[in-house]
Amino acid sequence: MYQAFLLKYAEIGIKGKNRYKFENALCAQVRRRLEKLEGEFTVTREQGRIFVEAEGEFDFEDAIEAMSRVFGVSSISPVQVIEDKSWEKLTKEVGNFIEMQYGEEKFTFKVKSRRSDKHYPYTSPEICMEMGAYLLGRFPHLSVDVHHPEVFIWVEVREKAYVYAKSYAAACGMPLGTNGKAMLLLSGGIDSPVAGYMIAKRGVYVDAVYFHAPPYTSDRAKQKVVDLARLISRYTGPIRLHIVNFTDIQMYIYEQCPHEELTIIMRRYMMRIAETIAKETDCLGLITGESIGQVASQTMHSLAATNDVCTLPVYRPLIGFDKQDIVDIAEKIGTYETSILPFEDCCTIFVAKHPVTKPEIPVIRRSEESLSERIGELLQTAMDTIEVVEIDE
Ligand code: ATP
Ligand code: MG
Repeated sequence: MYQAFLLKYAEIGIKGKNRYKFENALCAQVRRRLEKLEGEFTVTREQGRIFVEAEGEFDFEDAIEAMSRVFGVSSISPVQVIEDKSWEKLTKEVGNFIEMQYGEEKFTFKVKSRRSDKHYPYTSPEICMEMGAYLLGRFPHLSVDVHHPEVFIWVEVREKAYVYAKSYAAACGMPLGTNGKAMLLLSGGIDSPVAGYMIAKRGVYVDAVYFHAPPYTSDRAKQKVVDLARLISRYTGPIRLHIVNFTDIQMYIYEQCPHEELTIIMRRYMMRIAETIAKETDCLGLITGESIGQVASQTMHSLAATNDVCTLPVYRPLIGFDKQDIVDIAEKIGTYETSILPFEDCCTIFVAKHPVTKPEIPVIRRSEESLSERIGELLQTAMDTIEVVEIDE
């Protein structure tokens, strides 16, 4: 039925001289998504838009869905290609197209036109006028509104003619690959998958690290994190998930440090390890799902104490979000149902009854001194035994 799609993008439009780099990255991502589907798709860029032509059998819904997950795309319009662009045929085909897309629906419209075939017997304004008149004649339930139409009907005359009207909303943001890579601390909760999604949406590739504590955390808890990584990879592209065995470090902290400081000290070691992996894998920053005040380990004091051990920037895209705002995004991107499955988390197993909410950095540093004997060796073992899982949608 449709042989083509027109993709529009928003922010790339303002990138000046580097615009072609963003456009190429966007085309590459669209191709990557469509490759996984049935049918042959050709992706080309032209005049601030991306044009996708399809050949062979393909599933319309799947194609729209796949393209709508590409960051950088703001909308997708199915396009009808009209081979015979003689005026008589063109009007008829445009009419058929509107009938197919809208049926009996009542709406106001305006015809817009572009013409690159300068030999075509009608100019762009004439195409708009005459096509409008034809459509009004054929569909008496429609009316024209030149100022605020509900539907723009686009007619383009080039080598062939093209018509499109409806558009589907897409992910927006910036194309992946235009902004380096960052390391996401991915737990099995609601927040961190959303945080990864949000940073990826700005054009950043994401890898991930998960700390587990067997036998205190189960294989199913680990599988849940793998599942979450797979769900966000539908947007972020392939993810290398680093699974770190944190048990011995956690036990050692538990033995040596004041229990009310456990969570903070554990979080500091997570950040240290994540940063080491990040630096080894060319990541330019860390990402967490922290949000001010959400739990004791996320007060301003606690965040400062966690941040104290990091030299890379830590991106916390949810920092000012309410829980419900985060849940809304989790539902939209399809991670919520998995996130709420009840599996144990290594942070919750060793939690103190009364964790400090205002940790003082010098005090925490002093507590960590009691780890000096074995922590170096334990960190090394944790690094040496990392399991890497390559994840793709
Ligand atoms: P989430 O819903 O993302 O689990 P949370 O509300 O449970 O967050 P915390 O448990 O305090 O909050 O964790 C804060 C952040 O630290 C998480 O968003 C995540 O980025 C990181 N984090 C926590 N636990 C782990 C873990 N086991 N492995 C990797 N990262 C973790
Ligand atoms: Mg958590």
